[in-house]
Amino acid sequence: MTDRSYAAADHVVRLRDVSRRYGDTVAALDRVDLTIGRGELVAIVGPSGSGKSTMLNVIGTLDRPTSGTVSVDGYDTSRLSDRELSALRASRIGFVFQQFHLAVGVPLVENVADGLLYAGVPRRERHRRAEVALRRVGLGHRLDHRPHQLSGGERQRAAIARAVVGEPPLLLADEPTGNLDSTSGAGVMELLHGLHAAGTTVVVITHDREIAASLPRQVRMRDGRIVAEGLPLVEGVLR
Ligand code: ADP
Repeated sequence: MTDRSYAAADHVVRLRDVSRRYGDTVAALDRVDLTIGRGELVAIVGPSGSGKSTMLNVIGTLDRPTSGTVSVDGYDTSRLSDRELSALRASRIGFVFQQFHLAVGVPLVENVADGLLYAGVPRRERHRRAEVALRRVGLGHRLDHRPHQLSGGERQRAAIARAVVGEPPLLLADEPTGNLDSTSGAGVMELLHGLHAAGTTVVVITHDREIAASLPRQVRMRDGRIVAEGLPLVEGVLR
């Protein structure tokens, strides 16, 4: 991964004319241009089927576009092999999902330490950093708990600790409050705001207009396209 471009250093994500097609008829992403600057906190919002998950997969390098270019943290992903892409993903992108995805029956500290498995960090150091990350999300007293012993909100906070334990510049959160009651959801959003304040670029995918409206920037999608940005999400305005 040698061809990092200097010009790109001020943004973490840049999509240029990106499409992701399925067969001849479906354009899950349709010629999208999007730049996310370093340190931004952005909502990608839209109804079901508008292309949000496809956008997350493409930004997160889990999926390659059919056409167009995607750069992440200065790397043009089209120039990277699958192996290099995995390395980029492991070192620079944290993922948080609606379903938490914690390993069943495994203590929290191990779950979080596993976020560093591919970073070549020795075991003892992985544990130390996992403890720090868990304290950071308010779970310093739950290190040896298993996921099933936690509330939904606590599980999501643990998942966030795992996503950020390697201090990636970019955090992608896919409907992070989708499985939570409103109080736990507010706690998780507060945590994401805190990570943003500490310098992480955070992208939140959501269909919840209230959550989107609470973030400094909104990218609104419909039918695989970006239809509006940064405008107030008032019912009836962006039809
Ligand atoms: P959202 O996350 O906003 O619900 P998606 O990105 O999942 O939207 O889907 C966008 C569009 O692409 C939808 O019309 C969906 O049916 C279609 N789509 C997504 N994945 C596939 C696939 N693997 N094969 C065919 N069509 C797909």
